[in-house]
Amino acid sequence: MKRNEVLDKYKWKLEDMIPSDEAWEELYNEVVNSIPKLKSFEGKLGDRSALLSCLKLNEEINIKAERVFCYSRMRRDQDGSVQKYIGFSDRANGLVSELGTATSFMESEISSQKEDYLASVIADKDFEPFDFMLKEIVRNKKYILSDKEERLLSMATRATDNYGEVFNTINNVELNMPTIETEDGPVKLTHGLYGVLMSSKDRGLRERTFKGLYGAFEALINTICATYAGSVKSDNFYAKARGYEDCLSRSLFSDNVPKAVYDKLIDAVHGNIKYMHKYIELRKKALGLEDMHMYDIYVPIVEDAELKLEYEKAFDLVIEGLHPLGEEYKNLLIEARDSGWIDVMENEGKRSGAYSWGSYGVHPYVLLNYSKTTHDVFTLAHELGHAMHSYYSDRAHGYTKAGYQIFVAEVASTVNETLLLKHLISTVKDRNLKKYLLSYYIDMFRTTVFRQTQFAEFEKIAHDMELSGEPLTVNSLSDKYYELNKMYYGDAVTHDKEISYEWARIPHFYTSFYVYKYATGLISAVNIVKNILDDPKSVDRYKAFLSAGGSDSPYNILKNAGVDLASDHPYEVAMKEFNDALEQLNKEIQ
Ligand SMILES: [Zn+2]
Repeated sequence: MKRNEVLDKYKWKLEDMIPSDEAWEELYNEVVNSIPKLKSFEGKLGDRSALLSCLKLNEEINIKAERVFCYSRMRRDQDGSVQKYIGFSDRANGLVSELGTATSFMESEISSQKEDYLASVIADKDFEPFDFMLKEIVRNKKYILSDKEERLLSMATRATDNYGEVFNTINNVELNMPTIETEDGPVKLTHGLYGVLMSSKDRGLRERTFKGLYGAFEALINTICATYAGSVKSDNFYAKARGYEDCLSRSLFSDNVPKAVYDKLIDAVHGNIKYMHKYIELRKKALGLEDMHMYDIYVPIVEDAELKLEYEKAFDLVIEGLHPLGEEYKNLLIEARDSGWIDVMENEGKRSGAYSWGSYGVHPYVLLNYSKTTHDVFTLAHELGHAMHSYYSDRAHGYTKAGYQIFVAEVASTVNETLLLKHLISTVKDRNLKKYLLSYYIDMFRTTVFRQTQFAEFEKIAHDMELSGEPLTVNSLSDKYYELNKMYYGDAVTHDKEISYEWARIPHFYTSFYVYKYATGLISAVNIVKNILDDPKSVDRYKAFLSAGGSDSPYNILKNAGVDLASDHPYEVAMKEFNDALEQLNKEIQ
């Protein structure tokens, strides 16, 4: 379908953000012209009133620049064949990077001010919109080195920050992907196709695909190992150079999350790994397999049960599922549906997938490619979760405090998915659909909690090995990974030797200590949902979470919402939830 054939009611109203392309040009010029004004504050931030004016102007210009950026991107995303918006988007990119360069003096100049000056500024009511940001600069101060050392480190960074890029080149260009025999003839394997073939019912095909992919990685394993070892060394070097205990401490410090969270997560998963083994047994039974291999982990144990709902009906279902969040939330969902927040249908040239995005001061937007699958209904609930999180945070705060951090970013979206799932599981009559939903829920745990924690644990092992002087070789890394995999999947699986190379194909490992956040995000969401369903009054606490934006550390924000990730409780709740779902599914497939 061409974009002009899509009904208006299914299109987002980007005019709410910027009324016309002409207005975009004006706003773009306004930002360009304000940049020198902002730069004129350089060297003056030791003066209280200059500092305040600078922060205010910076906020004002950033709001406008964000709007210029979002508008151009979203116009391009709705139809990438329109040359005009490709041009807009390129110019917006340039503008944002120019603004970044022009304001790069701010953080270091603020950081270099005397402690008592900064403390008195933070305590000043006029600085309230910026107090948390200033506190963060002060918190980071102890890891800022002398000017000379900082210059050296920033020069070094340019020489050492390309390991991820090297890996991407290997992974996307150099890797010699095999040709796999399928029913429809031979096909060249790609990363995208791998996932599809691994869910195929044809076991032989799964085995060929699995061995084919790992064979391709094995052929380049020495190069990949050298690349990853370099990346780990570089991580440890920068952490040590700044005076952190290790790279994990550096990463958690920057997330403003206590180290206990990482340890609790790994301990809780170890302590409850029997549930993962139970799941593998259940899968073996459901698939009717004598022996189970690593290539049998992704084939669905329940047929897809498609709801095939028209968009309007899907939306009604989402409203129904999110009913526990109260009347105000429901009204906002209706507003989102009826007031042009959402771009619903697929059209030629439209970006694939789904997202929620927007710019401060305008309602959030959601991009979908709705095609009536059951998964699409969950995607709708998920993206609306992001949108509402932004809506509440923007409403409660000025621009600087409104943006929430990555650590909490997937919580609201997962709360919505979980609420909808639990609603459906308890109400659907169709047995196959119920099985499908249970297995959807269980897979969320398996892929998000267990798999990501396994990765998180491997990263820690690799970084610790390097720190203690143990060489990172193909054998040492693969042996560790293999042991870890045995512990996670248990005795019900034949541990094919190929899986010991899995570490070699994970792009996230080049952004170290990131993946644990997926696990803590799902665990937090499951706890919030339980609290809401057990006690409707806790919806208020959840609204406070949605409204908190980036006004405090993400750990505190979650703690205030009733989820203390440094304590055992949230992990116990989540593991029990996983086990309950397993029990239910077990009954259904008897
Ligand atoms: Zn999301």
